[in-house]
Amino acid sequence: MADLPPTHQRNPALGDSRRQSTREAMTQPAQTKSFLSLQRDALVAELGRLGQPAFRAKQIRQWIYRRHAPGYDAMTDLPGPLRKTLEGSLPLYSSRIEQTQDDPDGTRKILVRLAPGDSVEAVLIPAPDRMTACLSTQVGCPIACIFCASGKAGLQRNLEAHEIVEQLLHLDRLVPRTDDDDRRIDHIVVMGMGEPLLNLANLMRALESIQAPDGYGLGARRITVSTSGLPDRIRALANMGYAFNLAVSLHAPDDALRSKLVPVNRGIGDILDAAREYVTKTGREVTIEYVLIRRINDRPDQARKLAWALKDLRCNINLIPYNSIDEPGLEPPSDSDCEAFAAVLRREGFPVHVRHQRGDRIAAACGQLRAATEAGKFAR
Ligand code: SAH
Repeated sequence: MADLPPTHQRNPALGDSRRQSTREAMTQPAQTKSFLSLQRDALVAELGRLGQPAFRAKQIRQWIYRRHAPGYDAMTDLPGPLRKTLEGSLPLYSSRIEQTQDDPDGTRKILVRLAPGDSVEAVLIPAPDRMTACLSTQVGCPIACIFCASGKAGLQRNLEAHEIVEQLLHLDRLVPRTDDDDRRIDHIVVMGMGEPLLNLANLMRALESIQAPDGYGLGARRITVSTSGLPDRIRALANMGYAFNLAVSLHAPDDALRSKLVPVNRGIGDILDAAREYVTKTGREVTIEYVLIRRINDRPDQARKLAWALKDLRCNINLIPYNSIDEPGLEPPSDSDCEAFAAVLRREGFPVHVRHQRGDRIAAACGQLRAATEAGKFAR
C-alpha cells in the first residue's frame, strides 16, 4: 500500500459526495449566437437572412480557418457594410486571450477569458516535427484528481462547442510564421482543463468543425482525446465512428490506490475493458497516462503490477512526472525512479515515453495558470 499522506486519506473529495458531480454540468450560460456556434447549414441560412449569397459562408470560413483572420475587419474582400453588420449580428469571437505566457522551450500558454469569472487555458506546443494545440473542454473539472489544479474548485460549467474551437483559433494566430512558411497546428490534444467525455456532445460538435475540409481541416488521427477513465463514455465515443486517438489517465496499478488519486474511479477492470473495445472498434491505439508521484505510485513493484494489468491491451504508456501544484504530501519523483519505472515496463514490451513536462516554467500543467491568475499570482 502506498504511503499516501493522511490528509488525502481523509479528503472528503474522495468520498461519495463527489461522485454525484460527475453528471454533465446542468447550468450553461445563455446561448449567444456567434459565427462559430453555427454549423454549415444554419450559417448559410443566417447569412441568407442578411441578404447574403451562400458562398459567403465558405469565404468567411476560409478567412477564419485558413487565413488566420482575427476579426471581420481583416476580411478585406468582404464589403465594408457587411463587415459591420456581421460584427453586430454574428460576432466572431465570444472569448479573448487575457494572458499569454511563454516558456523558453517555445511552449505558449494562454488564458482565455470567456466571461467574468470564467476562464480556461489552452497551450501551443511547437516541436520541429509537429505543432500541437492543447484544448480545454470545461471550466473547472468534477473529477478532482488530487494532483491536478483544474479540479480544485470543482466544475463550473461545460464549454460550448464554439468556445472549444475559439481556443484553437486563438492559438493558431500565435503560431510562428514567415512569409514562406505558413505553418499550421497539425495535432490537437484534448488534455486541458476538464473531463472531455463529460462534455461529449459539445466536444464532438467542435471537433466536427475542426475536422471539416472547409473548417480547420485536421483529420481525426491527429486528434487525441484524454479521459480520466469513464467506461460508459469511452464506449459512447467508440460507437461514434471517429478514429480519434484515446488517452486514458490510469495513474495506479490497482483500485485501492487509484481511488485515492482519482476519486471518481470506476474500476480499472472496466476502464481497460472499455479501452479494449475502443481499440477493436476504431482500430486506433490507446495511450495510458500515468502521473508519477514520489513514493506513492513510482515503485518498481507497482510498475510490474501495471504491466500485468495492461497485458491484454495494445497501448503506449506515457509517464508524466508530477508537476508540483503545492499540494501537501505530493512530490515529483526522482529522475532515477522515473527511469527505473519506465525500464520495468519496457522490459515487459511496452512502448514507454517519459513526458518531461514542457512548459513547466510557465505553470503548464492542467489548470495551473488559471488557478494562479484567479489567486492574483501573475500580473495581468
Ligand atoms: N481530464 C483529462 C485530461 C486532463 S489533463 C484526463 O484526466 O485525462 C492531461 C493529463 O495531465 C492527465 O493525465 C492528468 O492526470 C495530467 N495532470 C494533471 N495535473 C497534473 C500535474 N500536476 N502533474 C502532472 N500531470 C498532471
